[in-house]
Amino acid sequence: MPGRSCTLHSTGRDTLKSMRTAYIGMGGNLASWAGPPAATLAAAVLRFDSLGRVVCRSSLYSTEPVGFAEQPRFVNAVVELETELEPRELLRGLLALELEFGRDRSAGIANGPRTLDLDILLFGGLEIHEPDLEVPHPRLAERAFVLAPLNEIAPEVIDPRSGGTVARLLASLVKGRENESDAVVRVESDRWRPGRIV
Ligand code: ADP
Ligand code: MG
Repeated sequence: MPGRSCTLHSTGRDTLKSMRTAYIGMGGNLASWAGPPAATLAAAVLRFDSLGRVVCRSSLYSTEPVGFAEQPRFVNAVVELETELEPRELLRGLLALELEFGRDRSAGIANGPRTLDLDILLFGGLEIHEPDLEVPHPRLAERAFVLAPLNEIAPEVIDPRSGGTVARLLASLVKGRENESDAVVRVESDRWRPGRIV
């Protein structure tokens, strides 16, 4: 399937001073009030309207849980968001949406099951190091379930930490792991239309 790169589109818009491009990682493996994970992601992305404008969606991916294996597979996606919010305001909005879709952190299992996880992966080329906000996302380079959908929509975007492209990060990660064929699998859903939103 051809790539769905949105980078040319976003580069032009970055010249608007107050508008910046953020890439948001989405994931879930438990049903929420909105339905199964694909339905949760579809409902949540509509709520991003309060945070900015979604200009591109990756496909949905079915992915193997990382860290804590005894749980259902995840559904993951990445969206490109144009936003006037500051990174901290965006994080606050995303965490509020996680709660709205029933995210329950009480079990306290790192990488455990969840209805909805929303992460800021990249934000307008910025590097941020604060106790509760790190951008680029600290585990970006080691997560194929994030890099595969990010690479689908933004292969040429630069990761400011390494100075390399998203495509390069993904290539370094998958090198030597080519046999893990079911770890990250693109899937389709009636509820989710990938591609650029014009
Ligand atoms: P993970 O997404 O790694 O599975 P959590 O969703 O439980 O972990 O993340 C918990 C905390 O991570 C959030 O409360 C938030 O303050 C912090 N955090 C730091 N950097 C980021 C980021 N770039 N995006 C989202 N959350 C972040
Ligand atoms: Mg998170």
